[in-house]
Amino acid sequence: MQIHNLSETPSILNTIISEIRDKNIQKDRMRFRRNIERVGEILGYELSKSLRFKSETIETPLGIAETVLHQSDIVLCSILRAGVPLHNGLLNYFDTAENAFISAYRHHKHHPESFEIIVEYLACPSLEGKTLILADPMLATGQSMVATFEALKPFGTPKEVHLVSVIGAKEGIDYVAKNFKTNSHLWIATIDDTLNDKGYIVPGLGDAGDLAFGNKLQE
Ligand code: URA
Repeated sequence: MQIHNLSETPSILNTIISEIRDKNIQKDRMRFRRNIERVGEILGYELSKSLRFKSETIETPLGIAETVLHQSDIVLCSILRAGVPLHNGLLNYFDTAENAFISAYRHHKHHPESFEIIVEYLACPSLEGKTLILADPMLATGQSMVATFEALKPFGTPKEVHLVSVIGAKEGIDYVAKNFKTNSHLWIATIDDTLNDKGYIVPGLGDAGDLAFGNKLQE
């Protein structure tokens, strides 16, 4: 798997990441959602440079313009519910993408620090030969990404897989790198060192789903 960590090159993306991490600014739910969407737009733009392009001509009112346009059949898949703003950001740039949605959540069976990933709702087009983009804003343990990919396998074999995340933990990156091998990329805004005993990224930003959509009653 090729890892593209955008924080290695300082850019205006750092300002957006600082805002979503800041414990005061992140309280503005609309700004938080829009900032995650903006990260999706930036990561989508970077990812687009790795797609397959073909020469085309466009007729303008004054003549013929030569260009190259991307040819990939994209399926954009997000994990509910935190993935929704990231999904919207990617969809802002991949106008014609097909879309898949999956619900994957952590079920703490016995202890707060141990959990399994439960996949329930799934709506997916065929993935055969297509470019699959899997979006999950917080790449903590990496288990949700891997469980999602497993659940998508009956829908066909994609030609390539692009994972898109806002913040990741080193442990989660190592886990997905082991499970996604050939023809796969990770596009990520920044990487933190640790996870706490509840599986949250530290320093991270907190609970991305709650910050985007409000607190939930479920554990
Ligand atoms: N999910 C979140 O929302 N935050 C984390 O830090 C990890 C998983």
